[in-house]
Amino acid sequence: MAESHTPQGTLEKLRLEAARFGVDVVSSARIGAAEKERFHASIRGIAADLDRAIVLGCRLSGDVLATIDGAPNWTYYHHYRTVNFALDQAALFCATECRRNGYRAFPVPASQMMDWDRLLGHLSHRELGALAGIGWRGRNNLLVHPEFGSQVRYASVLTDAPLPDRGLALEAAAGCGECRVCVGVCPAGAIKMDPLKFDLDRCAAQVRRFSKSEKLNTLICGICVKACGGASSAAAGAGAAQAGGCA
Ligand code: SF4
Ligand code: SF4
Repeated sequence: MAESHTPQGTLEKLRLEAARFGVDVVSSARIGAAEKERFHASIRGIAADLDRAIVLGCRLSGDVLATIDGAPNWTYYHHYRTVNFALDQAALFCATECRRNGYRAFPVPASQMMDWDRLLGHLSHRELGALAGIGWRGRNNLLVHPEFGSQVRYASVLTDAPLPDRGLALEAAAGCGECRVCVGVCPAGAIKMDPLKFDLDRCAAQVRRFSKSEKLNTLICGICVKACGGASSAAAGAGAAQAGGCA
């Protein structure tokens, strides 16, 4: 990081090094008061002087997602936790690099529930990912990467290190377009054509039902993640996605 003198050079170096942790996507964004207001109260003070976010993404295994058949399972649960752990390790590494170069850095956990009623973590990695140019908010309320769809999990690092705003510009249409592949798969009917009408209450109730019915004791689902596979599933002829690039 020390020898990379430009913000873009610093980001490229982090991208190369984070790949060793299994990270597939790295970008950065400027964050302001509007974003910080939505952070969990416990980190708003820490974040006050940190005006950049590094967003890290690990792709989920398509083969693991293929085991989901109408409900989450223990295989997916293990993979979900493993990917979160890899993201946390990568976030720790990036934060350490920033600190060693004289900057502050706060690694935000990939998946640490802070508000059990509203199912919220410290902040929305998806929102920061969209700001960083990684993808768009899909009908399924997840971040949709143009190539990988929603089959990516994310973590973030808040820092005052000089990094580019919107470090990874989207190369594809920023929206779901005509795709509606995920709309029919949700067992709770939470996914609507308008992403702003996503029914979070229905989704939350469903993942709570799965937690009990599948004896997972954790709040996961994976059904709409499996459905939104990005360009690879579209190429395999899996669905009707055209403009959105996901199937
Ligand atoms: S996570 Fe499951 S319950 Fe929630 S919207 Fe996706 S498919 Fe529906
Ligand atoms: S499956 Fe299609 S409609 Fe659903 S989020 Fe992905 S791109 Fe959007």
